[in-house]
Amino acid sequence: MNKSIAANIDEIQQRISLAAARASRDPGEIKLMAVTKTVTTERVKEAIDAGITLFGENYVQEAKEKITALGKDVQWHMIGHLQTNKSKYVVHLFNCVQSVDRLELAQELDKRAGLAGYKIDVFIEVNVSGEQTKSGVAASETISLVKNVSALENISVRGLMTMPPFSDNPEDSRPYFRALKEISRQISQERIDRVMMDELSMGMTDDFEVAIEEGATIVRIGRAIFGERK
Ligand SMILES: *Cc1c(COP(=O)(O)O)cnc(C)c1O
Repeated sequence: MNKSIAANIDEIQQRISLAAARASRDPGEIKLMAVTKTVTTERVKEAIDAGITLFGENYVQEAKEKITALGKDVQWHMIGHLQTNKSKYVVHLFNCVQSVDRLELAQELDKRAGLAGYKIDVFIEVNVSGEQTKSGVAASETISLVKNVSALENISVRGLMTMPPFSDNPEDSRPYFRALKEISRQISQERIDRVMMDELSMGMTDDFEVAIEEGATIVRIGRAIFGERK
């Protein structure tokens, strides 16, 4: 028998608190995002009923169905690779785009947000490992991208996001999480106008505790909440 979504969330919250305690951090500064790709609207509703207020989606079309059905009382973040030409839908659906990895995309989001009369938050996605198959801006180009994005009026940069290489050992992710935190610290020191480095989105089902030890403020969890994806 699978455990209920509510029971899974409870267990994850406890693990978040323990990981925060190990790092002498306040567990209140760590947000649990439920990642809903391939998850039905009914099951997302269960997570809302269990108290989740932050959701992540990878695909615009899937997000549209769920957000239309469930409303925007909760926060929705885009976390998947985003084609520039989808920006016009994204600004209407999401509170934040965590996967901004190029200026062209930021410019289009800015333009579309402006036309719709919205402001939108973004994170910069960093490819810390340099793996060629991963999206994300190269670590060495992150500061310059942030500076360029900061000039766009309808967008606010709120933090960084990363996905480390796949591994079955969570400890393998630690150096990438640590590197993201270091990039965030360097950007903060630049004191760029209208750029806030408040958020570090890192850690998934297999490595979120390590991410918390390394400074994550948002952990993005799919399978540990909703079960294995088909
Ligand atoms: C799918 C996904 C997650 C969640 O992964 P789980 O291993 O199911 O916790 C987090 N972040 C991104 C960008 C994803 O695509």
